[in-house]
Amino acid sequence: MIQDIMPRIYHNEYLPREAEAEDTDFVGREGNVLSGEDEEGAVAFPSAARLFAGQPAQEEGKLQYLFCIDEKAYYLYVGQTEVSIPGFTFHPLRLIRRARPKDECFAAMTAWHLYVWYRDNRFCGRCGHPVIHDSKERMVSCPACGNRIYPKICPAVIVGVTDKNRIMMTRYAGREYKGNALIAGFCEIGETVEDTVRREVMEEVGLHVKNIRYYKSQPWGFSGDLLMGFFCQVDGSRSVHMDEQELAQACWVDRSEIGEEPADLSLTADMMMHFKHELSLQDMEEGLCPRQDALKVSLPDHIRSVWHGHRAGIPEKKGTSAVVIPLILKGGEYHILYEQRAMRLARQPGEICFPGGRVETGESPREAAIRETTEELLISADQLELLADLDAQMGPGGAPIWPFAAVLHDYEYTFSREEVARVFTVPLSWFKENPPLRHMTQLVTRPGEDFPYELIPGGRSYPFRRKDHEMVFYQTDEAVIWGVTALITDYFLRETDLV
Ligand SMILES: [Zn+2]
Repeated sequence: MIQDIMPRIYHNEYLPREAEAEDTDFVGREGNVLSGEDEEGAVAFPSAARLFAGQPAQEEGKLQYLFCIDEKAYYLYVGQTEVSIPGFTFHPLRLIRRARPKDECFAAMTAWHLYVWYRDNRFCGRCGHPVIHDSKERMVSCPACGNRIYPKICPAVIVGVTDKNRIMMTRYAGREYKGNALIAGFCEIGETVEDTVRREVMEEVGLHVKNIRYYKSQPWGFSGDLLMGFFCQVDGSRSVHMDEQELAQACWVDRSEIGEEPADLSLTADMMMHFKHELSLQDMEEGLCPRQDALKVSLPDHIRSVWHGHRAGIPEKKGTSAVVIPLILKGGEYHILYEQRAMRLARQPGEICFPGGRVETGESPREAAIRETTEELLISADQLELLADLDAQMGPGGAPIWPFAAVLHDYEYTFSREEVARVFTVPLSWFKENPPLRHMTQLVTRPGEDFPYELIPGGRSYPFRRKDHEMVFYQTDEAVIWGVTALITDYFLRETDLV
């Protein structure tokens, strides 16, 4: 969904700092956002440097701090001068959805929510005096009467009403969005969200519901909402009485007839795809999460459920690499696939490793892991089913390596002879029966002859810290796996309860 921007992290804490030239600024006007295009044609927003090039000096500082994503700060332009920047124009809000990478899209949506709130709260609603922006929290206050105004979020529900293998689908009347929708509506004052679910279903399609279960939520700044998704079952009559003011269409749709759609932005699409592919009849009857039944789950589901919601830390900027731990189903059992590096390679020729490599500028570790794996194994990206984002492990020299666990489907044992000498697999059961050899080493600092000892206390006798470092060795029939590849294997197997 739109908020899923891993491995990037949204920092919502209100810690304003001065805008730097590279920070991003949002400029809103009515239903439009000032935007241009980057070299690849993706929607882009102006930087502080661009915004103030050619602007009157007094407009500098008219930036309201919003939030950070990783280290990058986002601001809102709150000056009164009309802004114009060469190459940027005011585009309708819906184009935000085309901003890439996805964290820019999420940032723009969230900035829009805050823009609307700041725009509509310039005067005190109690006494009419102009308000001032607080420096310590995300709040505006009235210097005349002390009124404090906080950001407004509107809670709303999205409801999947099910009847065995059918779900209630709707289309809105008189709205720009013409696609399939689920029943949805805002919470009213004085009701619980469950009350909202029952009321909206009754108002829109005239049905009673039972077994209301919370699914997921989603911030939806385009309209200032917090959406909460629920599934429930129809109770009693199945015949639909549609609210013709609000809906153009409402009907039961069989799960096999729901069209595939990308579930990477909206909760509605995520819920439709969840119903189509994952929710079993028993789950609906019993209200069980499909992943809680350990006896029934497949290995991919097990890995997904152990790592579900895991947020890997922030990647280092330089020298970062990313690998895939490819799992292959072979003879009814999952194996881990390893590569032996080609002898002609300059770095670590002949060593055992996972497919992967350097994260390039502008690329996420996940994108790099997929790109490198498809190049090395001569596969297409859709053969990789990513299951889990694991924490970075420290590679040689301290540079982080980001592992991703994935099932590799329909693999024909192809690989690029430029980079890979051979591939082999090791069954998961082997790792269970053969714990690795573990050996402790110490990393020491050994200064060179010209080290400036005179600059540090104690000179030559300075007690440099020694760091314990565990080495792991798997002696498989195919090869000895050691080094960071063994560490990643050991970490993955242990943290996923597979050994
Ligand atoms: Zn006031």
